[in-house]
Order: sequence, then C-alpha cells, then structure tokens
Amino acid sequence: MDCLFCKIIREEIPAKTIYEDEKVIAFNDINPQAPFHALVIPRQHISTLNDISEQDREVVGHMVMVAARLAEEQGFASDGYRAVFNCNNHGGQTVFHIHLHVLGGKAMGWPPYQAKLKSL
Ligand code: 5GP
Ligand code: ZN
Repeated sequence: MDCLFCKIIREEIPAKTIYEDEKVIAFNDINPQAPFHALVIPRQHISTLNDISEQDREVVGHMVMVAARLAEEQGFASDGYRAVFNCNNHGGQTVFHIHLHVLGGKAMGWPPYQAKLKSL
C-alpha cells in the first residue's frame, strides 16, 4: 500500500522506533514540536479517525495505553503532556494512517490557534 506509515511499518522507510509490539509501533516524529514528540500508530492501515469501527476498539485503546506508558518512561507523566489525533483537513492531518501524537518536555498552550482567532 502506498502509505508513508505503512512503509515505516514494513521498514521500507527508516524511523527511530522507540516501542513496538504486535499491534502498534511508536517512533520519533521527523519534525518534533516539543523536546519529546513521538507518533503511536497501528500496524493495520486505518486512514482517519472517521474510519475506525467497532473491531478497532482494542487497537485504538492500546494506542492510548502505549502513549501513557511512553510518557511515564520518559519521566514527564506527572508534569503533563499532550496526546493528539488530528483528523482530516480542519484537524491538520497530513498523513492518512491514524497516529497518536505524544508531545512532552515543555508546557504547551491551549487552545490551538488562539492568536489567530483573536485577530479575526
Ligand atoms: P499529522 O499532521 O498528519 O497529524 O502528523 C503527521 C506527522 O508525521 C507530522 O508531525 C510529521 O512531522 C510526521 N512525519 C511526516 N513524515 C514523516 C516521516 O517520514 N518520518 C517520521 N518519523 N515522521 C514523519
Ligand atoms: Zn498506512
């Protein structure tokens, strides 16, 4: 399948893998937005959050568990972190294989794009 993250799973494109098991892999984002920025992805191809179905309940739950475990391992679980799924155009999704961003190691603002909204 011509999907960037499927290629990473098949090791056709290199990535800095930091966790893997039979359901998911996690690797460092190529363009980190925080001192720690990893992506947790399912081994099975699912394009967007809109495409998850009942049978994906376990793998999507597992992605969240892995994100929390990575935060604990990295030592920023209690300080806090951000775990995000972007979906489609308005969500800012650019790679159409679902991925959970895990960002930590600095304080992050909320809501996103606040400055832009204020100027409207
Ligand atoms: P999205 O914008 O779809 O939510 O997030 C896609 C993420 O994938 C971006 O943060 C981007 O930096 C990351 N990314 C895109 N291409 C690659 C790649 O080839 N390798 C890695 N490790 N990350 C990538
Ligand atoms: Zn894929």
